[in-house]
Amino acid sequence: MSTMQLDIVTPERKVYSEQVDMVVARAAEGDIGILPHHSPFISPLQVTAVKVKKDGEEQLIAISGGFIEVHDNKVTLLAESAELPGEIDVNRAIAAKERAENRLADKKQEDLDFKRAQLSLQRAMVRIRVGKAR
Ligand code: ATP
Repeated sequence: MSTMQLDIVTPERKVYSEQVDMVVARAAEGDIGILPHHSPFISPLQVTAVKVKKDGEEQLIAISGGFIEVHDNKVTLLAESAELPGEIDVNRAIAAKERAENRLADKKQEDLDFKRAQLSLQRAMVRIRVGKAR
């Protein structure tokens, strides 16, 4: 079966580098499924759990925004942060979710802080989902 190279990198480290069968990521316009030999593609990424299929098995990886680039049978996710399921501290994410929810309850929707709290809440919810999926 044909595969493609998937690299997930953050400013701090290379999180993942493997040959995979399929990637499903949330791009600007919504979910995109990428199979080997996909046409060239570039898009911002939403805060999301990226689904990776390798050797017939599915794995989730938590991604907190960034970019996806596809070319020459290679998928690169340049993420602000990314964690594999085993790297996630679920209790830390639950605490972050509660902090964000409290901030959202206090703030007005047009505040910059409201937007920040919303993103923080999304990161925490993705981490909880991915961390519990292991
Ligand atoms: P917190 O408020 O718990 O720091 P955050 O959403 O503000 O959460 P980020 O700024 O997105 O955290 O991430 C900072 C660094 O900490 C990144 O390297 C990220 O991978 C890591 N990180 C954040 N939350 C977790 C977690 N629950 N488990 C493991 N690593 C985490």
